[in-house]
Amino acid sequence: MSSHTLEKFLNEQLSELKEKGLYNTIEPITGPNGPIITIDQRSLINLSSNNYLGLADHPQLIEAANQANKDYGVGAGAVRTINGTMDIHIELEEKLAKFKGTEAAIVFQSGFNCNMGAISAVMDRNDAILSDALNHASIIDGCRLSRAKIFAYNHNDMEDLERVAKEAKESGLYNKIMVITDGVFSMDGDLCLLDKIVEIAEKYDLITYVDDAHGSGVMGNGAGTVKHFGLQDKVDFQMGTLSKAIGVVGGYVAGKKNLIDYLKVKARPFLFSTSLTPGNAAACIKALELMSESEDLMSALWDKSAYLKEKLSEAGFDIGHSETPITPVMIGDENLTQTFSKRLNEEGVYAKSIVFPTVPLGTGRIRNMPTAAHTIEQLDQAVEIYTKVGRELGVIQ
Ligand SMILES: *Cc1c(COP(=O)(O)O)cnc(C)c1O
Repeated sequence: MSSHTLEKFLNEQLSELKEKGLYNTIEPITGPNGPIITIDQRSLINLSSNNYLGLADHPQLIEAANQANKDYGVGAGAVRTINGTMDIHIELEEKLAKFKGTEAAIVFQSGFNCNMGAISAVMDRNDAILSDALNHASIIDGCRLSRAKIFAYNHNDMEDLERVAKEAKESGLYNKIMVITDGVFSMDGDLCLLDKIVEIAEKYDLITYVDDAHGSGVMGNGAGTVKHFGLQDKVDFQMGTLSKAIGVVGGYVAGKKNLIDYLKVKARPFLFSTSLTPGNAAACIKALELMSESEDLMSALWDKSAYLKEKLSEAGFDIGHSETPITPVMIGDENLTQTFSKRLNEEGVYAKSIVFPTVPLGTGRIRNMPTAAHTIEQLDQAVEIYTKVGRELGVIQ
């Protein structure tokens, strides 16, 4: 028998979400999340994955995972602090630190729980966190979990950041103050203004935390946004994910040895949730090796995204102000945006609409994620379909 209260709650909530058009149905893909995906037995050009470098189904990563499955089994068997730390977890952390140019690194099971664990390990109710208004949900939840006082500053508005920094500092109420930001903002593809953030951090003695989920493997020859700005010595937490450009799953913080030592005894997902599987760890190590050996994948990513941007622009689309491969096509109206995405799908392009409340009202867009694995022919075909749908819906002439 199920709870009557729960039944009532769920029925009300689900109908309300459906009425408001906020209920999302999930379509499973069959096969890898590559440049072409299959949904419902239809092949579609995929412009929606975070598989920037095409590593998610790379033969060498698959082989590394298979070998680790044979050598270590499919599961780690325990949390890291009991006996779930295998030598490949340590190897992954050492390789990550080297890749990011820091003394040490700690690996979590996902980027989301890395933010939950790392922020709340260091910040508490006697502290303050200054957080960009467009920061990722996992940052917001990690900040809430810490119980620190949260000051949201307007997106990339450095005057506003300085205002809250001054206010928090001069109040004398907080032991520690942290500034936290995405390195790359995923809805527009713009970068945080890290040089300015570091300047303000130095002036007000702020702890600096950069979530570089969309920057690692993309910016700074792969090492990320912090490297792009040349500020590796000035940022305390370089957080990242192993699930986007790295192609697998997991999250990490790279930083000074004493920070990582501390997180390894305090971050709760590290202490109380089973470690990354051996196959995942081995595949991540292989990804880092490939990225360190050659910049080919990174250059291919930037070439393909420059190509897609140029062609969409030429076709008359407004592609916003992205500084990264993320390529939004701005539509505006929410309903029109959703229709646009649906029509693209019918014509053979899988590209998701992003609307309020994920982005401000009236700024609906289709977000395109070109990858190193796309061919020029696939991108040409996608732009052709975009042009057809754009004319049909009056988005372009
Ligand atoms: C995707 C993302 C995360 C979460 O990473 P996962 O490894 O998918 O859990 C965290 N922060 C940002 C900015 C992200 O884009």
